[in-house]
Amino acid sequence: MSPNSIIWVGYFSKIALMKTSLDIASIRNDFPILNEVINGKQLVYFDNAATTQKPRLVLDALSGYYEHYNANIHRGIHHLAEKATAAFEQTRKRMQSFVNAEFSEEIIFTYGTTDGINLVASTYGRKFLKEGDEVIISTMEHHSNIVPWQMLCEEKGCILKVIPIDDNGDLLMDEYEKLLTERTKFVSVVHVSNSLGTINPIKEIIEKAHAVGAKVLIDGAQASSHFHIDVQDLGCDFYALSLHKIYGPTGLGILYGKKDLLNAMPPYRGGGEMIKEVTFEKTTYNELPYKFEAGTPNIADVVAAKYALDYVDTLGKSNIATYENGLLKYATEAVSEIEGLKIIGKAKNKVSVLSFVIDGIHHQDIGVLLDQQGIAVRTGHHCTQPLMNRFNITGTSRASFAVYNTTEEIDLLIKGLHKVKRMLG
Ligand SMILES: *Cc1c(COP(=O)(O)O)cnc(C)c1O
Repeated sequence: MSPNSIIWVGYFSKIALMKTSLDIASIRNDFPILNEVINGKQLVYFDNAATTQKPRLVLDALSGYYEHYNANIHRGIHHLAEKATAAFEQTRKRMQSFVNAEFSEEIIFTYGTTDGINLVASTYGRKFLKEGDEVIISTMEHHSNIVPWQMLCEEKGCILKVIPIDDNGDLLMDEYEKLLTERTKFVSVVHVSNSLGTINPIKEIIEKAHAVGAKVLIDGAQASSHFHIDVQDLGCDFYALSLHKIYGPTGLGILYGKKDLLNAMPPYRGGGEMIKEVTFEKTTYNELPYKFEAGTPNIADVVAAKYALDYVDTLGKSNIATYENGLLKYATEAVSEIEGLKIIGKAKNKVSVLSFVIDGIHHQDIGVLLDQQGIAVRTGHHCTQPLMNRFNITGTSRASFAVYNTTEEIDLLIKGLHKVKRMLG
């Protein structure tokens, strides 16, 4: 990477030239998968909201761990065990600074965002919520932030309330305020919508929830790759994210929780590592964060995740966001030329997610025909079925952009969509 080089990208005459301080050609070289040839065409990967690709240094860290210091952690005293433990705990420190948590023991390793939300619903929720208490989520939640709360409400006799949205895909904040009462005990909302791209005003949401004494969890699965996260500034009680959406390995996430809350919560799973002492009569639990990390964790991926965060920070999150916003603007203007195409999700504050439907053409057919041209987009409900119902659609086609994407690739998408229209329109 040579962060100082300036790249000028020219395209449709009516759109201003886009300037970035990132060397995109060199960044693309860091991602070996981008050289794949799909159906005779070089891969155009626009499914970054589902998972991002991994730079070579993350792949090297994974194989480096297995080749040189694979060992179980925290228990062994031999050299490899100590080295693996140090690398594992180094990532925890790295995650602490990544989200600006006050203490490193506030960082719990999970399988991902879904796992983190389930942890909170089944430990905090089970212990502290009771019949008649209310939980608030929003219309644009991922199923991961709906189902665990439904399960909890069913078990405890709590009531689930939903913040509505407008036609642009913005939360109706007045309606949110009306939902908040002294019965509200928990608010769980998404920071950035994976289907619409909407960036929610979560600081305001958190403040208003706290004013009625409710705790707040933020689903940060989409936000964490696009901009800087500061849990202390936000003031949230819990923040869940997935590393595979930040150029890191799959099946790994973190749950941030305020220390006093995590201490007050019962453990999630029982087993090794999460205990202090076990007899058949009674078990005492380990301290934070180990209380919530039963069993041998995903050591290799935790070790490699640090390199993904280093990669993102070397590029600079604000540089990434500026570049991605340029791609979104370019793509938004370009698709508006396509007759019968309607963008779903027109919030003013958006990340680089472009969801759309085309009159008379099923989203699945769009996906299949684009794939034949080597272009990977996501089609369907994006794990947000209630949101699709809100818009009276069964699904969308979604192109979501990451730092390695280019305007030339967007041109290929536009060409591809014209072809789809010629064939099916
Ligand atoms: C991807 C995603 C999730 C789920 O993340 P997993 O890694 O699959 O657990 C939850 N919420 C949002 C907004 C997402 O984009």
